[in-house]
Amino acid sequence: MRKPLIIANWKLNKTKAESKAFVAEFSEKIKDSQNDVDVILSAPFTSIETVVTELKTTGLDKVEVAAQDVSQFESGAYTGEINTAMLKELGVTSVIVGHSERREIFNEDNSVIKAKSEKVLKDSLKLIFCCGESLETREANKTDEWIESQINAVFKELDYSTIKEGQISIAYEPIWAIGTGKTCDSEEANRVIANIRTLVKKLLPENLAETVRILYGGSVKPGTIEEQMAKSDIDGALVGGASLKPEDFSQIVNLSAPKAAVK
Ligand code: PEP
Repeated sequence: MRKPLIIANWKLNKTKAESKAFVAEFSEKIKDSQNDVDVILSAPFTSIETVVTELKTTGLDKVEVAAQDVSQFESGAYTGEINTAMLKELGVTSVIVGHSERREIFNEDNSVIKAKSEKVLKDSLKLIFCCGESLETREANKTDEWIESQINAVFKELDYSTIKEGQISIAYEPIWAIGTGKTCDSEEANRVIANIRTLVKKLLPENLAETVRILYGGSVKPGTIEEQMAKSDIDGALVGGASLKPEDFSQIVNLSAPKAAVK
């Protein structure tokens, strides 16, 4: 069984002071589950250093910090961009790539997402790759082929020779469930995730495929997580709105510990 992975995505929220206050409160609430659940906080760039420092200060040394984006470029004339070396210097260990908000609002297409994914993996950061269908795609009964095309676009021709076990996670996030309060039915989320697992097994070398954690994301809340984690193929969750409050997010983490979720 893969260890549960719960990721917070704070998006464009939290100043440094707010981030510090979050970690102080959160650390008290999840101390008992930090060995049973892997937790990652995806902070805005400006709060990353604060979060890394506060996690150490409060004794949450197992909780890791992710960036919500990264440049696909090494360095140079790319105004506004942040590269992998800058992130690693701050203590970042993972990067979210392919989130639907980056795809839709910032027009990141599969070729940009592939370039970013390759850069993250080549520079020894962990990749949190997101995929998911729109309502239109779902209603046209094209969910499975859409997800398959998004995954193929990145993982079909990847050089796996230097990628380490556990370096890749995938989040299935139906766009219509993100920030809408409409959670995807857990049976259906599990079905799509099981299909992703089959595809991952086809595309990746066996030792890597086994360690890929496949998460569900889309309006996850303390009241939904137990049912989701009890499903056979869901290894964790990517959480937006409910990760902003230490009370809610700590409940999600605590309820994801294997002793709480009976598979
Ligand atoms: C997300 O941002 O990836 C997300 C799933 O958001 P929410 O939990 O708010 O739907």
